[in-house]
Amino acid sequence: MMEVREFQSNSEFPKFLDSNDPLGHFRQRFCIQKSVIYMCGNSLGPASKDAEETLYRAIEKWKEEGVKIWSTDNNKYFFYSRELAQLMAPLINCDPEEIAVTECVTTNIHQVIGTFFKPTKIRYKIIVDDINFPTDRYAIDGQVRLKGLDPVEVVKVVKAKSNYLDEDDVINAMTEDVQMVFLPTVYYRTAQIVNMKKVTEAAKKRGIVVGWDFCHAIGAIEIDLKLLDADFAVWCTYKYLNGGPGSTAALYINKRHFKMLPGLPGWFGNKFETQFLLRQTFEHQEDANGWQIGTPTIFSSAPLEGSLRLFQEAGIQNIRKKSLHLTAYLMYLVDEKLTHYGFTIGNSRNDTKRGGHVCLEHNEGYRISKVLLDRGVIQDFRDPNVIRLTPTALYTSYFEVYRIVEILEDIMKGAAYKEISTKKTIVV
Ligand SMILES: *Cc1c(COP(=O)(O)O)cnc(C)c1O
Repeated sequence: MMEVREFQSNSEFPKFLDSNDPLGHFRQRFCIQKSVIYMCGNSLGPASKDAEETLYRAIEKWKEEGVKIWSTDNNKYFFYSRELAQLMAPLINCDPEEIAVTECVTTNIHQVIGTFFKPTKIRYKIIVDDINFPTDRYAIDGQVRLKGLDPVEVVKVVKAKSNYLDEDDVINAMTEDVQMVFLPTVYYRTAQIVNMKKVTEAAKKRGIVVGWDFCHAIGAIEIDLKLLDADFAVWCTYKYLNGGPGSTAALYINKRHFKMLPGLPGWFGNKFETQFLLRQTFEHQEDANGWQIGTPTIFSSAPLEGSLRLFQEAGIQNIRKKSLHLTAYLMYLVDEKLTHYGFTIGNSRNDTKRGGHVCLEHNEGYRISKVLLDRGVIQDFRDPNVIRLTPTALYTSYFEVYRIVEILEDIMKGAAYKEISTKKTIVV
């Protein structure tokens, strides 16, 4: 389904869109430097005043209460994962008990694979793809080795074609020796949305366990876990959810699996009623919090409280709607003004297949990305030729989208990128 949208290429048009934008007022709640256009929320979302406030509240509680921080305000921080899960659940439509806010994504992948990978002589393979962010694969290979198996034999890699994963290739790979499939929902380079419903249904029909990585999806697109009924999922909170650098990640365990034992058990996954009896035997808390490991990272979680309230106020449907409109407008302007400079669009134009960013391709992408940074457009580059531009619903204006295309046009006219070294730097 492709929504038809009417855009204009003049500079009055984005101002008109901004003045009619029901989400426009949220921008004031974010801390964005005057001199920059922030288009990097797919990598690290910006700070908000709301996130700052809940972080400082936690610091104040520590100052005032010391160890009593755990029990203050009705055990708020002791049960923080639950409170944050309440705020997060509407974004992915599941029960709050099915979410634990804990650890980092990579640890959570070890946790869920360690829990759900149960190889037998007949079923012992895990389906993955070859274009996902590689930490997911490192964790899977590591878990396979811990079971005494060889990743070369066990990890079944579905090859993407020109950076595009075809769901039918995944389904065709679901042979009788496959026990599990684990894929990302949105690709970090191309913003491709995988048809989770199609893959999940096909897997379940064959008795295959299904897990998803929502890292580039949560906060950007709508996800309906009740409809999907997948087995598990993981995601980070510092990208579209604006939780801050290294903010606490999360995982989802479908409630029908609550009785399973976690692959990586720890005392924070013990039933809270008996946790402080400090017994030598683990008593599993039978909800997603049973998959917590150690003491919650309060200062890495606290900004999320404020940040998630912004999502609650704005509503994920409205956020998705504006995000699609922003990326469609950006693509329209690229088509109008930049194609003759050699730019192409690497993401799908179909709304159901496009996540939160635009994947702008150019042979000189790396050097152009550097000039954009020098000119205050914060974005990033991914090898070999991708500039990722992420206009987001809560803090990007239509006029900023217009401006970056104008800046790109100017860079290309003067060939300013030729001054830049081709030697690469870390992160951005
Ligand atoms: C961002 C991202 C991660 C991050 O993992 P951390 O352990 O939080 O550093 C993992 N997987 C994917 C697919 C990602 O996009």
